[in-house]
Amino acid sequence: MTAFVFNEVNFDNHEQVVFASEPKSGLRAIIAVHNTNLGPAMGGCRMWNYATEAEAVRDVLRLSRGMTYKNAVAGLPIGGGKSVIIANPKTDKTPALFEALGEALERLGGRYITAEDVGTSPADMANVANKTKYVAGLGDRGDPSPFTALGCFVGAQAAVKHHFKRDSFDGLTVALQGLGHVGYDYARRLHEAGAKLVVADIDQNSLKRAQEEFGATVVDVNAIYDVEADIYAPCALGATLNPDTMNRLKVKIVAGGANNQLATPEIGEVCRQKGILYAPDFVINAGGIIKVCYEYMNTPEDGMDAHVRRIGETLSEVFARANAEGVPTSVIADRLAEERFTK
Ligand code: NAD
Repeated sequence: MTAFVFNEVNFDNHEQVVFASEPKSGLRAIIAVHNTNLGPAMGGCRMWNYATEAEAVRDVLRLSRGMTYKNAVAGLPIGGGKSVIIANPKTDKTPALFEALGEALERLGGRYITAEDVGTSPADMANVANKTKYVAGLGDRGDPSPFTALGCFVGAQAAVKHHFKRDSFDGLTVALQGLGHVGYDYARRLHEAGAKLVVADIDQNSLKRAQEEFGATVVDVNAIYDVEADIYAPCALGATLNPDTMNRLKVKIVAGGANNQLATPEIGEVCRQKGILYAPDFVINAGGIIKVCYEYMNTPEDGMDAHVRRIGETLSEVFARANAEGVPTSVIADRLAEERFTK
C-alpha cells in the first residue's frame, strides 16, 4: 500500500493524506492536502461508490493536485486539496456522516477547507458546518456557476482575440455542449455578444429554451463534434477532447467550462498540431472557485468581478507563451501554476 501511494503519478509530493473513519456513521473518507504554499488547501468533497479503495486514493490525489494548479493560476491565496467519501451518494447519506467528516476536518485545524462537489450538495455541507468552520460554499450566498460562465466568456474573448485578431463574436459560430448551470449562462453571454449558437444537451427543456431565447440550432448529442463552427465549448462532460473527437472537430478554438477536457495530456499537443487553440480547462473554469474563495474569506466582493475577468488576461499570457515557445497551451498553463505555487 505504501509503495502504491508514494509511487502514484499524482502523489506528486502531497503534503498530507489522511484516512478518516468513524464507525457509528460509517464514514470512510480520504482527505488529501497537496500543497499549502499559497494558503490553506481548498477543494470540494466528492461522494462516490468507488469500486476499490485504490480507485478512491487515485481519484483524490488526482483531484487534489489539480486544485493546487487551478487555485494558483486563478491568483487565489489558497492551496490545493480534495476529499472523497467512499459511499453511495444516492443511498448512504446521513447528517451524521457529514458531521463525522466535519470532525475530521476540525482535527486538521484548517489546513484543508472543503466544499460541495460531485455527489454532495450545499445541504450536506451544512451538516459538515455543524462540526467545523472549515467548509465553504454553503449555498446561502448563491450559486457560483454564473461566475464560472463569466470566466468562460472572457476566456473565449481572449481566445478570439489571439486567434482571429478581433474583439467581437459577430458572425462566429459556437458549438456548445451542455446547457446546464454553466453552459446556459455562457450561451446567453455569447448570444448577447453576437455569436451564433449550435447546441446539444440530453435535456429537451434546456434545448427548447435555448432555441426560443437565443435562436440556437439544436443538434444531436453525438453530432456536436462534427459541427462547422469557430469555437467548441464543452460544458457537460470530461474527456471530450480524445482521439475520436480530434479527428472530427473542425473548430479553431476550444473554450468551455467542463473539467478534465483532455482525455490524456498528449491531446494538448494534438490540438497544437491541428492549429486548435485550447483554453486550458482549469484556467478558464476558475470563476466558480474565485467566488467560493471570496465568500469563505469574507473578501469584499466589489473586486470579484474584476478578479474573474482576469481569467481573460491569464489566458492571453498562456496563448502568447505557448506560441512563442511552440508548446501546447496546457503545458504553459501547468508551468504558470508551478511558477506561482513553488516556493
Ligand atoms: P450541470 O449538471 O448543471 O450541467 C450539465 C449539463 O450537461 C446538463 O444540462 C446536462 O443535461 C448536460 N449533459 C449531460 N450529458 C450530456 C451529453 N452527453 N451531451 C450534452 N449535454 C449533456 O453542471 P454544471 O454545473 O453546468 O457544470 C458543467 C461542467 O462544468 C462540469 O464538467 C463541471 O464539472 C464543470 N464545472 C462547473 C463549475 C460550476 O461552477 N458549476 C465550475 C467548474 C467546472
